[in-house]
Amino acid sequence: MQSTMQDAPLQIAQILRHGSTVHGDAEVVTWTGDGARRRTYAEVGRRCAQLAHALRGLGVDGDQRVATFMWNNAEHLEAYLAVPAMGAVLHTLNIRLFPEQLIHVANHAEDQVIIVDPSLLPLLNPQLPQLTTVKHVIVTGESTDGVDAPDSVQVHAYEALIAEKSVDFDWPEVDERSAAAMCYTSGTTGDPKGVAYSHRSIYLHSMQVCMTDGPALKQGDRALAVVPQFHAMSWGLPYAAFMIGASLIMPDRFLQPEPLAALLAAEQPTFAAAVPTIWLGLHQYLEQHPQDISSMKDVLIGGSAVPPSLMHVFEKDHGITVLHAWGMTETSPLGSVARPPAGTEGDERWHYRYTQGRFPASVEARLIGDNGETLPHDGKTVGELEVRGPWITGAYYGVDAADKFDDGWLRTGDVGSITPDGYLTLTDRTKDIIKSGGEWISSVDLENAVMGHPDVLEAAVIGVPDPKWDERPLVAVVLRDGSDSTPETLREFLSDKVAKWQLPENWTIIPEVPKTSVGKFDKKRLRSTFHDGGLD
Ligand code: ADP
Repeated sequence: MQSTMQDAPLQIAQILRHGSTVHGDAEVVTWTGDGARRRTYAEVGRRCAQLAHALRGLGVDGDQRVATFMWNNAEHLEAYLAVPAMGAVLHTLNIRLFPEQLIHVANHAEDQVIIVDPSLLPLLNPQLPQLTTVKHVIVTGESTDGVDAPDSVQVHAYEALIAEKSVDFDWPEVDERSAAAMCYTSGTTGDPKGVAYSHRSIYLHSMQVCMTDGPALKQGDRALAVVPQFHAMSWGLPYAAFMIGASLIMPDRFLQPEPLAALLAAEQPTFAAAVPTIWLGLHQYLEQHPQDISSMKDVLIGGSAVPPSLMHVFEKDHGITVLHAWGMTETSPLGSVARPPAGTEGDERWHYRYTQGRFPASVEARLIGDNGETLPHDGKTVGELEVRGPWITGAYYGVDAADKFDDGWLRTGDVGSITPDGYLTLTDRTKDIIKSGGEWISSVDLENAVMGHPDVLEAAVIGVPDPKWDERPLVAVVLRDGSDSTPETLREFLSDKVAKWQLPENWTIIPEVPKTSVGKFDKKRLRSTFHDGGLD
């Protein structure tokens, strides 16, 4: 029997229409370093219509790719909404890719238009001659100064291009399964690969961002999106905020702890999202320059495991609840969120909050063993995590990567266990796990334990070759200024926290852990530096 329900497509245009009317008073705030630019969602809606007219005028009339090479700001939000709503495909370029990766990604996606922030022109200009499909470069703001483009590329200033265009646009009805936006993985563990999100997947994912037991973004929130719009769609915040009527606070290029602290003071966000390294940096800064940041009630942290010590310090020193979440570019990215079960109290809640959390009903998860067998969710058995659901990718754009999928499930490359009531605990990425004498050592567990030491600012653990055990852990540690801790005292500190055979004998004190293009510990670079286990 067919249902009697209307078959209404889920579309970005609906989010745009709803946000710019029902929540027309909400605002997007763009930090300028010493102040802010403000635009209401009603204005954003009008400017989206103007941008869509402008892009039509440049010949964007199908599913052409319109790329962005931008910080988080109001114009980036306009591109997020207008490009998919008009039926084209938004492609968020990662501004921190190596030049050859950027060229590969833009050519592979066949980007026709690139919208770029003026401050990023020095990074884009040298690559422009090799971007074979790009016909137009649009520079945000009033001017095209600083663009160095080949003759084949037309250059426009964003404000002049949209000025005088109609503030109404007849958003077309699109197939909800067609691509709305695409993002390439950041290439932490290989070449960047493209994921194309559909209107439907983005719509459903946005609803999940607003679910009470998910991140619970709500009307009236002031959401600080530190996570870049080029990193897994800023974890869905721009669309969810427009859908639910939460204002967005965009840091633009001011991502260092000091300007971030100034932004927090001025704009009083109630919600924020970023990878752990951002919060580690901010916390260190606030130790020297105390400031009340407790307007933030919930801080969503994911992208890599959140050290429990960071969660405690945010709660104790700043009155902020850290919400730990797991996801990937391939999963839109929201997968699991660590909210404790109802009825748990006190320390028991911490036990759940340390985990990567539970999946929502829409996302199924399973664990797979070395021989392809499905493993039990008993909280102990460890296997590779596989997921499937309406906002999980089923392929990569234009490449055959059959080994990344398993009978319709996405192989995440993450290893962990799941409890009978659904809590995921990740021990590692398959590539990072340390195989010592036939046993596995979790680099994440060791990192969390070392980062629990008050003198340690950052700690990253990699496996290094060992003639007797195959591999042993090496701990790269960044110490607080003036600390007198040594590898010996740190090892002693670990002795009652990890099994004796896991205690690392290789340590190196470094000034900073190298970071990936999205701010995670870059273990690939650490491995190439310390491949021989070489200590200082
Ligand atoms: P990249 O793969 O280039 O780092 P992504 O941001 O898509 O880019 O990374 C997804 C990966 O990040 C996951 O597969 C997982 O290894 C890691 N990750 C994300 N969230 C967490 C978390 N809460 N705990 C541990 N690892 C995480």
